[in-house]
Formats: sequence, structure tokens, C-alpha cells
Amino acid sequence: MISDKLLPFGTTIFAEMTGLAIEHDAINLSQGFPDFEGPAAIVDAAVEALRSGDNQYARSRGHPTLVQAIAASRKRLYGLSYDPMEEVVVFSGATEGIASSLLGLLNPGDEVILFEPFYDSYPACVALAGAVPRYVTLRFPDFALDLDELEKAITPKTRLIVLNSPHNPSGKVFTREELTGIASCAIENDLIVLADEVYEHLTFDDAEHLPIASLPGMRERTLTLSSTGKTFSFTGWKIGWGTGPRPMIDAAQAAHQFVTYAVAPPLQVAMAHALSEFTGDEFLRTFRNEYTARRDFLLTVLDSAGFQVAVPRGTYFVLADFTALFDGDDREFARWLTTEHGVAAIPPSAFYQVRPEEGRRLVRFAFCKRMETLRRAAERLGRIAP
Ligand code: PMP
Ligand code: GLN
Repeated sequence: MISDKLLPFGTTIFAEMTGLAIEHDAINLSQGFPDFEGPAAIVDAAVEALRSGDNQYARSRGHPTLVQAIAASRKRLYGLSYDPMEEVVVFSGATEGIASSLLGLLNPGDEVILFEPFYDSYPACVALAGAVPRYVTLRFPDFALDLDELEKAITPKTRLIVLNSPHNPSGKVFTREELTGIASCAIENDLIVLADEVYEHLTFDDAEHLPIASLPGMRERTLTLSSTGKTFSFTGWKIGWGTGPRPMIDAAQAAHQFVTYAVAPPLQVAMAHALSEFTGDEFLRTFRNEYTARRDFLLTVLDSAGFQVAVPRGTYFVLADFTALFDGDDREFARWLTTEHGVAAIPPSAFYQVRPEEGRRLVRFAFCKRMETLRRAAERLGRIAP
């Protein structure tokens, strides 16, 4: 019964691997969700909001308290000004943001540039919109952008570039030079950009997250998505948002009103509190330090287990080459690691379309886990060497 549009996409690899992890009681380093709680004060704010009687449909574009907190945080963090009532929309997670934005902005036949490896919902939503993806491949281990390849992928039909930085699954943070190149390309060809910045606060070492909307000429052609799931460790609440110029927000809203209409008010109010209270320097410093410790620990473990790793500069994922450890492809390796060694990870060939061979010897581990979980995984990973 599945429509022709969706048939090629099957079940997402995240649901598949988490299912396999549960079945085999494996430590789940596959799907990216924390196994720890976010700040208790945010839960308290939600409980208080639940009891305050604000429990009917919210304003479709977002609870006034939350859109104001979002606009204020963009201004404070990046100097970007958005009108909270006209240039912000709250989605049921960035996942809905991707779908509603692409459905609202694209016409059938429009071409869309996707970088592979990609987040798996991009090609599916491009297909739902009746648009056509064109792929630009980023290659292990540094995933540097080849601007010539980007320019070659652009045709008179190209309408939009989907840019994800910090980048899932590679952990790459696009450099200022790369972003400037993408921006010039967008401006010269009159393209719009959907910037998925859900990992905006997850950067390591000296890597700096630069919103592409902050580059000259880009605010007016960029719809930026983010999500509270990653920053506050409440992925299940599904509170995300888009910010952009009014015509782009109106387009996303045109779809959003029919996709979800509105998102749970108490959770929006709690996230407004979180954005106001928990995006200060100290919270973000601690957040990054804790994730840096998790990343460094996992990198050491993977290195001594015999993987060749691509050191992530952002996100909570690491891609590792398992060639020295196993003969088969990534799907076989991920299944073997889960069922035989009790550690679940994601086979990334699912994130490639034109060059799946680029992902065939790689596996993605998520480190948004307690140190205790990572230590248990380390013991198991220490035993896989042939
Ligand atoms: N974009 C990327 C790149 C992601 O990794 C995720 C994580 N699930 C999302 C979007 C979706 O975010 P949300 O959980 O807010 O729907
Ligand atoms: N973003 C999460 C990841 O990459 C998964 C989200 C989902 O399951 N759709 O692991």
C-alpha cells in the first residue's frame, strides 16, 4: 500500500538498528539520543506549564513565548534579527521542519542539492515534494567540500541547497571558506538554502559554528532549522524551529499548518524557559566540555580497537573505518557488531545515494551517552579485534 514516492525509502536505519539493539540487548550507540536526562529545571517548567491550563491548540506558528525566546537567542548568539511573530515558526522537531520547509518551498521538478552522506529524511522529503535531488559527495576522512563538484551539480532547474552544519553523520563543521563558497554559489545562481543547524552548540576544539544566514547576502535566502532536542537532551519532546525571511517562513508555514498545525503548548513554554536560562556561556561551556570528554574517550577506544576514525569537530557522532577488523560491508559489520559483540552502530551506506561505496567500510557511533555506557561499550569493543 506504500506510495511509489516513499517505497524506495523503506524503514529508517535508525528504527532498524535501535530495534536490533533492543532485540539483542546491545549497548545502543546507533540512534542519536542521550541516555541521560536534560536539566531538571526544564522538566519543572513543563510540569508547571501543564498545570497552568494552557493545553489547547497553540498558535500555529508557535507559542508567543517561545518564538520570542527563539528570536532573542538568535540575536544574542549570532547577531541575527528575526521578527518573532513573522519570521519564526515552531515545528514538531527539526524533522517536521525539514518536511514542511521542503514541501512549502519546492515545486515539482525543482532540483535540490544534497551533500552525501546526508541525513536520511532529506531525499525522502525532496521526493514527497516531487522535486529532484542532485548529490555532491563529501569524502572520508575530512569530508572537505569540492566547490567545483557543487558548481557542476547546479543546472537551470536548481532551486535549493540543503546544508547541514555541524554535519551528521560525519561530524564535519563546514569552514568559513566552504560556507562562503556555498553562499557565493547560491547568490550567483539565485538559489535558496535550507540550513539544518540542529547541532549548532555541539562543536569541539577550535571549530566554530557559523550560521550561513549570517554571511553577506544570505539572510534573505536562508531558512535555518534548529531543535531543542540536541541542546537540552530532550529529543523526545520534538520541539524545533525555523527562522528566515518572511517569504520563506510563509512557505514553510503553508505546509506546517496542514502537517501538524501546532505543537504542544506546555513543552513550548518549557523550551522558551530553557532558551532563556540555559544558553548562557556557562551552560554551553559545560555542555561542550562534557561532550568533548565523551568524544575523546570514544576516539581512544575506537583507535585501540583497530578502527581508523574521522575526528569529529562537531555533532555527537563519529564515523570509523572498520577495514582492519572485518571483511564484509557496513550493513554486515553493524549487524555482526550488534548481535555478536553487543554494541549497536549505524551502517552509513544508507546515507549515500550516488556513491554508496564511500560508506561501505564505515560505521557511525553516537556518543551522546553516559560515560558509564561508553565504558561498558569500550569493554566490548576491546574484544572485537581478530
Ligand atoms: N537534522 C539532523 C541533521 C539530525 O541529526 C536530526 C536528529 N534527529 C534532525 C534533523 C531531527 O531533529 P529533531 O529530533 O528535532 O526532529
Ligand atoms: N538524528 C538521529 C540520528 O542521526 C536520529 C533521529 C531519528 O531517529 N529520526 O541518529
